[in-house]
Amino acid sequence: MEVLQQIRTRDYVQHLQEIFHVQKRIYTAAVLEPTTTSELIALWKQILVLWTNLQSFFSTAHLHLLNDDDIDYSSLVFGNTHPYCSICLLSTVGIDTVLPDSSTFNTAYLTFAGRLYHAPCANFYLNVIDGILPSLKRAS
Ligand SMILES: [Zn+2]
Repeated sequence: MEVLQQIRTRDYVQHLQEIFHVQKRIYTAAVLEPTTTSELIALWKQILVLWTNLQSFFSTAHLHLLNDDDIDYSSLVFGNTHPYCSICLLSTVGIDTVLPDSSTFNTAYLTFAGRLYHAPCANFYLNVIDGILPSLKRAS
């Protein structure tokens, strides 16, 4: 069996997609809050280039990665009246409403130290950035 067709590879690709969408949620909130910076915009452009390259690579194995514009998270930016993730700052309620029907994204969220987190946001943060979850707050 070719490596790209193995279940572990498909899981890996799914996890890459989850990470990409953590970045997309952070960028969406930063633009709409608005708290974005030129550095964040430059990083997002680099992420999009990497994502496009990954899409191209995995498409040769018939592994479909969603396009950047397949999911629009902007409807999940509310004021402080809705519960939100303390990493990406988007609502923890209704994320399933913006995902494609066929997606296998993890829509779970968790509470830690009185703060809410999307499970993929918390996993990414704990495994890549720091062992202590942040408690970011919305500017608005
Ligand atoms: Zn989040």
